[in-house]
Amino acid sequence: MADAAKQDGNTSMTRDVIILGGGLAGMTMALSLAEHGITSHLVEKHDAENMLDSAFDGRTSAIISSSWNMLKALGLDVALEGLGCPIRRIEVREGSEGKPLDFTPDDNALGMIFENQALRRALWDRAAAHAAISTHMGHGVALRDYGAHGVSATLENGVQLTGALMVAADGRASPTRKDAGINMAAWRYDHRAIVTAITHERPHDNIAHEIFFPSGPLALLPMHAAPDGKHRSSVIWTVAEKDGDAMLKLSERGFLTEMQKHIQGLLGDMSLAAPRGAYPLGLHHTTQITAGRLALVGDSAHGIHPIAGQGFNLGLRDIAALTEVLVDGARLGLDYGDAQLLDRYAGWRSLDTLMVAAASDNLTRLFGVPGKLPSLVRKAGLAAVQNTPLLKSIFMDEARGRSGELPKLLQGARV
Ligand SMILES: Cc1cc2nc3c(=O)[nH]c(=O)nc-3n(C[C@H](O)[C@H](O)[C@H](O)COP(=O)(O)OP(=O)(O)OC[C@H]3O[C@@H](n4cnc5c(N)ncnc54)[C@H](O)[C@@H]3O)c2cc1C
Repeated sequence: MADAAKQDGNTSMTRDVIILGGGLAGMTMALSLAEHGITSHLVEKHDAENMLDSAFDGRTSAIISSSWNMLKALGLDVALEGLGCPIRRIEVREGSEGKPLDFTPDDNALGMIFENQALRRALWDRAAAHAAISTHMGHGVALRDYGAHGVSATLENGVQLTGALMVAADGRASPTRKDAGINMAAWRYDHRAIVTAITHERPHDNIAHEIFFPSGPLALLPMHAAPDGKHRSSVIWTVAEKDGDAMLKLSERGFLTEMQKHIQGLLGDMSLAAPRGAYPLGLHHTTQITAGRLALVGDSAHGIHPIAGQGFNLGLRDIAALTEVLVDGARLGLDYGDAQLLDRYAGWRSLDTLMVAAASDNLTRLFGVPGKLPSLVRKAGLAAVQNTPLLKSIFMDEARGRSGELPKLLQGARV
């Protein structure tokens, strides 16, 4: 694989930054730094072949417009052009009946749906070829050390990497976060997300549907047509934890019948277009996203319910902010691990991550309350937003990631 050749070519073990975790966030972090002249080690415990296999991650991600600006500014639009299916409208409903609350922007799309593996492939191809990134695939981290003048990571194969700053991008269970003793608030929802894709009779018309049931939301997200030309959508169906195993074991026919009962023929006849996968759902929020010479990005810093498709988008906002802080710091001659820079990063990201976590948690709980009265209240709430254009445009700006102080990359500009 390209990574082996690349590692051989990069004999220097000192780089500006060491990034632990090479998922979507870690690879984007490395690329974002590299595009601004900052070198990094990118360490991932899976090897590249395994990580790029189609079975590795069957999910799709809604990439909101500000995130797309960033991916374009990092030069990923060439590889990703045409792969994302635009969302032209979002329809939110309480149960399968009733008038939906719809978000339809006047201008461009609300975002695009990408297969995670398409994002991963595009990121990997750029990262593996970039001279400023040394990739270390297929090795976990055995030891991390934070000193007054720099950091080091010793890999399980004995290789020692050094740098000025450590970035943790090692996901929800982040061993780097644990090792640094960073506390977090965390709870599990009594939910599991069943993820798959379907082909269907009726066109989706680029509408994303979010249908709320007391057991959890069912999202249908528009995808480009399947290779045989059939209309296709991605499914994220949140079910009660106790029903998760049974939903995976149901025959294809049984599963589709159950789903049809929930969506009442919205897309016509359906067939499964991908295997079913399951993800346990929870929320976690760290008390701090920095420590001495350490910064957390992506799911290592925060994890939310996928109800609003914001997790990776939040991670991109971390990466854009951290890149800007480090580039500004370097212009002033500061060391990348300087505590003032890390404080600026932490301050910049704290409100946004908390607000999005709170909003997704409230939404999950609000729609999870069973009973007729709560249902009536929710329907009235949806109708009130539907009839208030100002509120709708505020929600749309939030959904597109346009509110708050946006880092330059999210505005489509280099730092
Ligand atoms: C069902 C579902 C649907 C979702 N839909 C959306 C959506 O539509 N839009 C959106 O924005 N977000 C969505 N999300 C959230 C999004 O998928 C995550 O926020 C994102 O994938 C997190 O990426 P990450 O790189 O931070 O973490 P991860 O993907 O967990 O990557 C962490 C990486 O670190 C590596 N690692 C761990 N430990 C070590 C170690 N010791 N040494 C080396 N490497 C290590 C792992 O192997 C992994 O590759 C969804 C999530 C779920 C569950």
